Order: sequence, then C-alpha cells, then structure tokens
Amino acid sequence: MVAMTRSLVQRMEGFGTSIFTQMSQHAARFEAVNLGQGYPDSDTPEELQQVAVRAIRDGQNQYPPARGLPLLRSAISAHQERFYGLSVDPDTEVLVTVGATEALAASVLALVEPGDEVISFDPSYDAYPAAVALAGGVHRTVMLRFGDNGFDPGDLTAAVGPRTRLIIVNNPHNPTGKVFSRSELEQIAQIARDHDLIVVCDEVYEHLTFDGFRHTPIATLPGMAERTLTISSGGKTFSATGWKVGWVHGPAELIDAVAAVKQFLTFSGAAPFQSAIAHGLGLSEAFFDDIAANLQRRRDLLAGALIGIGARVSRCQGSYFIMADVAALGVDDAVSWCADLPEAVGVAGIPVSAFCADPTTTKTLVRFAFCKDEAVLREGITRLARLGRGTEAQA
Ligand code: PMP
Ligand code: GLN
Repeated sequence: MVAMTRSLVQRMEGFGTSIFTQMSQHAARFEAVNLGQGYPDSDTPEELQQVAVRAIRDGQNQYPPARGLPLLRSAISAHQERFYGLSVDPDTEVLVTVGATEALAASVLALVEPGDEVISFDPSYDAYPAAVALAGGVHRTVMLRFGDNGFDPGDLTAAVGPRTRLIIVNNPHNPTGKVFSRSELEQIAQIARDHDLIVVCDEVYEHLTFDGFRHTPIATLPGMAERTLTISSGGKTFSATGWKVGWVHGPAELIDAVAAVKQFLTFSGAAPFQSAIAHGLGLSEAFFDDIAANLQRRRDLLAGALIGIGARVSRCQGSYFIMADVAALGVDDAVSWCADLPEAVGVAGIPVSAFCADPTTTKTLVRFAFCKDEAVLREGITRLARLGRGTEAQA
C-alpha cells in the first residue's frame, strides 16, 4: 500500500468543511430552528416546477449546449434589459453555469494567474477566498464596518497593487444585508477604471431588496459594462437553491475566457431546470415585488426579536440575512456561542468570523437567516427570547 502523507493540496488547507454544512448538521442533530444556512422554506413556484417536469417528460434529458439553453440565455438577456436597461447579447455575452458558485469559480480561474491579487470586502461569502486560493491568487480584503456597513474608499485604493486583477463585489451583500448605494458603486467603478481592473459582481440577491432600495448592477455605470462580469442565479429569486442554475454575463471576450474554463468543470448543467428558470425570469413584476415584500416582513420580525433580547443589529437592506452583535448578552466568542446554541436554545446561527479574512474584527457577530416560513421564524424567535430573559438557556 502506498503511504499517504497528505491528501488535500496545500492551497486548500485551512478552508475545512463549509460552515453551512457544519451548522446545518448541528441544527438537525438538535432539531434546532435553522437560521444558519441560507435556503428558503418556501417552495419553488408551482408553474416553474411544472415547466421542469414537462421538460423531463418531453425528453429534455441530454446535455444542453455548454453555454446553456438558448431559451435561458435569451431570458437572461431580456431580464437584464427589462429590469436594468442593460443590453446583453444572448449568443456571445451570456454563459449559463451550475449555480452562481460555478460562475464565480470559473471567472476567477479564467482570469487570475498564480500570484495575481483579488480584492473583496470583509466579511464576504466564503466561496470567494476559496476560488482565489484554487487559482493560486492572493486575496486582499477591505473592511465593511458593523452597523452602517460602510467602507473607506481609501482602504480600497490602498488595497490595489501592481498585481491586482479583480475586485469581487457582492450586491446585495451576504452576510451583512448591505445594498451598495449608487455613490459607493461609483467609488468602486472609479478605482476599477483608474487601475484597469475587472469587476466580478455577484448579484444573486438582486431581487431581494427592502425599504424601497433598488438594486443597481455595477455594469450599468459609465465605462463598466466593458469591464464587469455580472453573476446571478435562480436559486434565491425562485426559491430553487437545489436546482443550481446560475449565469454570468459580460463582454464577449471575458465570457469566452470563463466558458473556456467552465467546459472542463461541468461542461453543462441540468437542462430541465434551465427551461424552468427561463420561464421564471419572464414572470410579471408583481412576482418579483412580492418576494421582496414577504421577506421584508420577516426581516422586521427577526430584527425586532434580536433587538428585544439586547443584541445590536446592523442595517439590513437586502438579501436573506441580518447580522447581530451579541456582546451585550455576555458573549465574547461567537464561534463557540454558535456551536452551543442549537443544543442550548434550539436555534442555529452562523458566526460572522467564518466570512472574514480577519476574524478578530467580528468576534461577537452572528448572522441569522430570515428566509424561513413565518411560523418557523416565530418559533426561532420564541426560543431566542429565552436568551433575553437570562435563563438557564444561556448558551
Ligand atoms: N453568492 C452568494 C453571495 C451567496 O450567498 C450564495 C449562496 N447561495 C451563492 C453565491 C451561491 O449561489 P448558487 O447556489 O447559485 O451557487
Ligand atoms: N448561500 C447560503 C448561505 O450563505 C448557503 C450556500 C451553501 O450552503 N453553500 O448561507
């Protein structure tokens, strides 16, 4: 037998098992209300399910084209025109991927040489540093402040060096719930233009914005369409996270590069789900308004409950998530607090440090997801309220 000295490549050491997998397993073990991993309880709209079933019955069961079904590429193009006035050529400027996750990984792998630098905000979705590590790149971060979720544009300028290739932006933002304002997007765009950088903008929560805030794709800013890869997915918008239909659009030359990588990662994704998401992208404005309004109500419920137990919450204008500072509950380490919470109180949350290059700045922050059925959310809130009463339930 050959002695195994090491299995995992060095550049992936330190990433461990995703916090979402860990916390969902933990929540299941203790039958906790899972406000950790961000997936909705509500089911995919019936008419989308019917399209997927029909597509299977009609024999749409072989490989779709590597760039995605023409029907879906056209629907993505029409959606970008309808909501944002963006003109996107479905034949040359769109690539369908296996979720936004593959779009991100393929973009970074296609554009980042070993030693190139990639900037993102801290905290950020955990797939970004992992994709950079897979490409052999160097990850630089710019801090988002707790509370107003703002950043110092000087920090962003300072993070740019001679090897910087990409800025990854996530808008609306996981885990903070931040929606970047137009002026913040202008600041990022200015730096990208000045330093000739490509922006990869992950917009999977594009339709989940609250309080009248509207999503602005950074690609709509002057001089940005030619240097931006815009990524999204049907997972959040259509409560279909398990279908893993994502996409990326941008200038043909960049899309060619991403497609060159994507064909060797998965070649193509599941055809019947692509048909169904194409149908979804054409639904009425009322559908898109409703999902945001429903979520906003649940955000308010959870935010109120967190404030009620003495936590501070940061401003949440979009996404599935809200961040709470639980220091006032006597917590000094959110990692161990979150590890104990499912057993002690019957609720799961995610320590924000899991999204951070510098975990010391977020030691007492926890992310909670509110994309759950109202009854489930209310049960979670009832359980969390025990913490506010300082009972034996303190985790
Ligand atoms: N980006 C962000 C910011 C996310 O929160 C997620 C999680 N769903 C993804 C990408 C992954 O999306 P998908 O499931 O479409 O791969
Ligand atoms: N995006 C989801 C979250 O942030 C989970 C994605 C996953 O499980 N990989 O919770």
